[in-house]
Amino acid sequence: EDCRVYEFAEKVGHSTGEVIKILFGLGKMVTKNDFLEKDEIEILADEFGVEVETINPLDELDYVAAYDAIPDEYLEERPPVITIMGHVDHGKTSLLDKIRETKVAEREAGGITQHVGAYQVEKDGKKITFIDTPGHEAFTEMRARGAQATDIVIIVVAADDGVKPQTIEALNHAKAAEVPMVIAINKIDKPDANPDMVKSQLAELGYMPVDWGGEYEFVEVSAKTGQGIDDLLETILLQAEIMELKANPKRNAKAVVIESSLEKGRGPVATVIVKNGTLHVGDHVICGRTFGRVRTILNDLGKQIKELGPSDPGVVVGLNEVPDAGEIMVAMDSDKQVRELAQKRAEYLRQKELSKSTKVTLDELGNLIAEGKIKSLPVIVKADVQGSLEAIKGSLEKLKNEEVKINIIHSGVGGITESDVALANADENAVILGFNVRPTAAIKQKAKQLGVEIKTYSIIYDLIDDVKALLSGLMSPVI
Ligand code: GDP
Repeated sequence: EDCRVYEFAEKVGHSTGEVIKILFGLGKMVTKNDFLEKDEIEILADEFGVEVETINPLDELDYVAAYDAIPDEYLEERPPVITIMGHVDHGKTSLLDKIRETKVAEREAGGITQHVGAYQVEKDGKKITFIDTPGHEAFTEMRARGAQATDIVIIVVAADDGVKPQTIEALNHAKAAEVPMVIAINKIDKPDANPDMVKSQLAELGYMPVDWGGEYEFVEVSAKTGQGIDDLLETILLQAEIMELKANPKRNAKAVVIESSLEKGRGPVATVIVKNGTLHVGDHVICGRTFGRVRTILNDLGKQIKELGPSDPGVVVGLNEVPDAGEIMVAMDSDKQVRELAQKRAEYLRQKELSKSTKVTLDELGNLIAEGKIKSLPVIVKADVQGSLEAIKGSLEKLKNEEVKINIIHSGVGGITESDVALANADENAVILGFNVRPTAAIKQKAKQLGVEIKTYSIIYDLIDDVKALLSGLMSPVI
């Protein structure tokens, strides 16, 4: 059950102060009204020697879906779901377009092809689903939400350009997600194409091609001429066979939202890929904090259909609001169940939001430092030029007194970004310091929402002075 600090203290029969003190010891700063994270509850319970059982209402969906699961004997083979990643301009979009153009056209001559975020093709009577939004950010964002939709990743590397920084990023994202990959060496139609160079570069990184005795499948393709695309699809199907991907089409559906929008005349629409079960027109569904009854399902060609089976992509109409991409959609037995759970989730999220806005302000931070409750002050430093950045970092590092030290968790040249705010938010008391850079209104708003402090300066001395003041427990007013 969801639990605030003071509620937990009551339950275990200790004072709120004791609970807060233990969390301080762990480097977590909370007030009595904050919600405890699951791992915090576990540590505290251990500390107080009590038994607890934690349930996160957001996980409850799995619980509900499992509740009416039909036994495993109904498991059937399901198509693989593919994401394409790779360096910019190496041909991700072209490859997605070419596969769709050649294969979808075969399936349904004259079908209207509109981008909905995912599509399905057929090869030798077997289906393959492609997620049509290339990029490892989206891939990892979904993974962070626990909504891994992808079964196999295609890493595209241009044969005339070789391995590049984003190729390595893509490889690392796929590896971190433990998703098998197939490497597509693209642009082999080009006169300066050098597939062997790509192979040896990747071999050197530990991705040894199968025909060199390794375990990674490499396929040479051209998104321009279509050469090798059949090969690529066959390789994917082979890999899928090894993985024995299964689902139970008879149970209530569980799907992942790939894209969503508000459409004139239709209202909120969500492109989903079904992970398990079958989604029907008329089903009662919940999806994040949104819910509704499935009014219409469209396939990737824009044609109305009655249901979506495992790994099928489709556009769902009927939700009360637009859900976020990466959200899980679950079908439940009744409207009542859906509404009750939706309400519970909305309340949970609202409370969580409220508890976030009680994050410490700079003033409180100064007090806590003065009281000796904080030993390290995490900061993110952004500056307009390298010279200033180095000067600021140098001065900050010298600032540490014996009680508190500055911990520069990230620094860089350039504006204050959403990723800086996210990073500061992940670290309990982190402050963002900007020198000659200012956050945009949108970033400011985001920071405010999350309770992240941003301070900007145009004189290095002022910045250092402020941090000094903060360290001694005094802080000038927030600009
Ligand atoms: P993305 O940034 O990875 O999505 O790359 P694009 O699909 O936008 O492709 C970048 C450029 O490379 C475009 O100008 C494409 O026309 C070109 N391109 C993509 N694939 C091929 C290919 O197989 N052969 C040739 N010659 N050009 C290609």
